[in-house]
Amino acid sequence: MLELTVEQISMGQQAQDKAAALQLLAGYLVADGLVAEGYLAGLQAREAQGSTFLGQGIAIPHGTPQTRDLVFTTGVRLMQFPEGVDWGDGQVVYLAIGIAAKSDEHLRLLQLLTRALGETDLGEALRQASSAEALLKLLQGAAQELALDARMIGLDVVADDFEELAWRGARLLRQAECVGNGFAAVLQQVEALPLGDGLWWLHSEQAVKRPGLAFVTPHTPLRYLGQPLNGLFCLASLGEAHQALLERLCALLIEGRGHELCRATNSRTVLEVLGGEVPADWPSARIGLANAHGLHARPAKILAQLAKQFDGEIRLRIKDSDNNAVSAKSLSKLLGLGARRGQVLEFIVEPSIAADALPALLAAVEEGLGEEVEPLPPQVVAIEEAVELLPPVLAPIAGAVVQGIAAAPGIASGPAHIHALREIEYPLRGESPTAERERLQQALADVRNDIDGLIQRSKAKAIGEIFITHLEMLDDPELSDEVDNRLKQGESAAAAWMSVIEAAARQQESLHDALLAERAADLRDIGRRVLAQLCGIATPEEPQEPYILVMDEVGPSDVARLDPARVAGILTARGGATAHSAIVARALGIPAVVGAGASVLLLASGCPLLLDGQRGRLTVAPADEVLRTALAERDQRAQRLQAAAARRLEPAVTRDGHAVEVCANIGESASIANVVDLGAEGIGLLRTELIFMAHPQAPDEATQEAEYRRVLDGLAGRPLVVRTLDVGGDKPLPYWPIAKEENPFLGVRGVRLTLQRPQIMEPQLRALLRAADNRPLRIMFPMVGGVEEWRQARDMTERLRQEIPVADLQLGIMVEVPSAALLAPVLAREVDFFSIGTNDLTQYTLAIDRGHPTLSAQADGLHPAVLQLIDITVRAAHAHGKWVGVCGELAADPVAVPLLVGLGVDELSVAARSIAEVKAEVRELTLENAQALAQQALIQGTAAQVRALVETR
Ligand code: PEP
Ligand code: MG
Repeated sequence: MLELTVEQISMGQQAQDKAAALQLLAGYLVADGLVAEGYLAGLQAREAQGSTFLGQGIAIPHGTPQTRDLVFTTGVRLMQFPEGVDWGDGQVVYLAIGIAAKSDEHLRLLQLLTRALGETDLGEALRQASSAEALLKLLQGAAQELALDARMIGLDVVADDFEELAWRGARLLRQAECVGNGFAAVLQQVEALPLGDGLWWLHSEQAVKRPGLAFVTPHTPLRYLGQPLNGLFCLASLGEAHQALLERLCALLIEGRGHELCRATNSRTVLEVLGGEVPADWPSARIGLANAHGLHARPAKILAQLAKQFDGEIRLRIKDSDNNAVSAKSLSKLLGLGARRGQVLEFIVEPSIAADALPALLAAVEEGLGEEVEPLPPQVVAIEEAVELLPPVLAPIAGAVVQGIAAAPGIASGPAHIHALREIEYPLRGESPTAERERLQQALADVRNDIDGLIQRSKAKAIGEIFITHLEMLDDPELSDEVDNRLKQGESAAAAWMSVIEAAARQQESLHDALLAERAADLRDIGRRVLAQLCGIATPEEPQEPYILVMDEVGPSDVARLDPARVAGILTARGGATAHSAIVARALGIPAVVGAGASVLLLASGCPLLLDGQRGRLTVAPADEVLRTALAERDQRAQRLQAAAARRLEPAVTRDGHAVEVCANIGESASIANVVDLGAEGIGLLRTELIFMAHPQAPDEATQEAEYRRVLDGLAGRPLVVRTLDVGGDKPLPYWPIAKEENPFLGVRGVRLTLQRPQIMEPQLRALLRAADNRPLRIMFPMVGGVEEWRQARDMTERLRQEIPVADLQLGIMVEVPSAALLAPVLAREVDFFSIGTNDLTQYTLAIDRGHPTLSAQADGLHPAVLQLIDITVRAAHAHGKWVGVCGELAADPVAVPLLVGLGVDELSVAARSIAEVKAEVRELTLENAQALAQQALIQGTAAQVRALVETR
């Protein structure tokens, strides 16, 4: 990201003319290693297309798209020309900012400069600046605008006294991100200033992030220090931003118009009186911005010039952004928007000029604002309209097979029981905050009792843990604070509770992490339970006979309440295999298929269904023969599992004597004894990020060592394969801020991140080495894409190993990125082993997001392309005498086991509950047949053909 620092500034330069200045600047960029020689031509070409003069004595020379390849690193270099350089058209430049940018990063710089550009006479100050620090201050230190918009007005707020009203004002400022958490407390210490007309003023500079003003009026008349309290201003003050507002307010009070503010019934009136950001009910129009580099200086200049031709106000905002609309006549404001290609611009125009201005503005944007533009692909905006054009969803007919996501294995049949969630109606306004608070407390207590009961009754540990999380959600102080604020504003308990839960669930969903996002279902689940309690609605009775429960999205507590003796299977329209409901279903042993699509909700209640939780398949009203075969398969499977469990502690050896190691994947140390008892011959994957996630702060070296030691102790000499921390991108740790990325799966994650942060990686490696005590320890690095990453990680570990010697250590990599598989012949010379992470390897090979709501079912690790990569990896490893494991979900897939064994995989690492079954499958094979089958699989065209090949063998 482009930021300005003093090191990037060269003071006191001289240039005869623009050409000489450009030459100096290009030399500076080259000398600092930002660009290659030849970038000067780009700067010159860009100036020839149009001047980069910005105003206020500043120019921002940058290259053209053709010279982007010459950029090594994105960055800027600044040169001060105190004597000025003629930039053409009589414009004089005192500061030239040379930009080396590979894409649109310079828009961020323009945003940074916007504040400076708003200042008058900045050019002169830049000229006179005597040090780099002073110059930087000028660029960054210009006053920020006072934030004042509808979000910051709270009218008729329920408050018992002055303190509560002040607290409400502070809260509005916090919500608008003007202040930090401590501001409310700060305001309570500040002396209030009476303004007359019952208006009061409070302000502070402490804990302020950006200047902003909130205005709140009380619902019932209040008094403070013996005077009426009809309205309170809370100012988050920073610099002089509020000066103009203060002057306007003084004038208003002198005119005796203070009561207009106190009596206002809507925020618009207040904003009009104070001159704040008025929510526009003016005519508006939207258009997508198609300019390749966004609204940068040149197009913005043309837009501002066009806007100035109209005699009336024209405002512009980016749709769906938090930013306020800005004047389209101000170049600096337009640049400050930082609008990028693909974003939707919204023009809001004064009614008197709207008929002329709106079409002209839209046409100008459409034509590219002076640039040639590639039209945008069909707009996202159009999706809303397109939804109605989609074919209507129809119920699947008898005999239809619907493919969903396999969530819990097993075969089930029975009549459909459609469990549609009832809309629960509730009043929006409450009796009184106190009464509503009491009702809510009662409902929360009842639900808590209910959940306690579920925890006591649940035999499976996984279920108990989920409900402990639910209890924590119920007691979350953030949630209860938010709810309480709403109650104070007069909302009913149900309305306040539901809006807070829904907002929290949405926020959770917006996280780019399938696992975290699925926690939204848990929030909604407890939300609904409390709502039902508040509204006196009983949980629906389940039918008596064994049935297949069909729901849109099933909440974990819905599942946990079910009696496995009566619920034969679960089918949902939405959800993924990692949803808590799926985990609960697996723990209860109820076969489940999730994410089968909206059509299943249209099935008639009582319609016979056949569910295959292993293959993620539903058959509607199956023919007798189909049903008979499936049920026979179910019985055989049950017998097989029983027999497999009895031999779980024996090794997995094929009929012709080839041994395959079967290990467990774990994410915590506590379960190690259980895992060994389930037959694990070692740990094939310890996901250390789960250990990190279980701690509220980064676990220090000693804490980590204790965790790793516990696993090694439990393994009693069996090998432990540990993966170093695999976070970043879509898997953030709450305590490590990581820059948000457009494409987190292709971003800084896994070893890419930890190599950048040795302060995290080194303690982890040290903790591992210390815990080893000469027991068999294998360390592998996640997401390695090339040889350099592996070497860096290896060298770091070897360096630490000098300090902490370990006798039985192997170092390897996870093969999760196709490039690593393709480079396996090179890597195999250096690594001790490979462990193939088929979950990621499949996603990257097939370019299907593994958590994608509709595509993830197609991300099948048995795709021949993935099998080819596994084949390359195994052959390369064996050629160098190294071993290969598979630790993705594929290793536990019964159809995949013969193929992986046939391809020569030496170790399969699976969830502990699958160990016995996988071992049993290996025992049924001969290596020779498996090899022949694998060779056949490699020449298939689709995953479905591969599956069919194995199933009909
Ligand atoms: C994999 O990608 O297959 C893997 C085992 O790692 P994770 O699922 O933790 O990304
Ligand atoms: Mg992975």
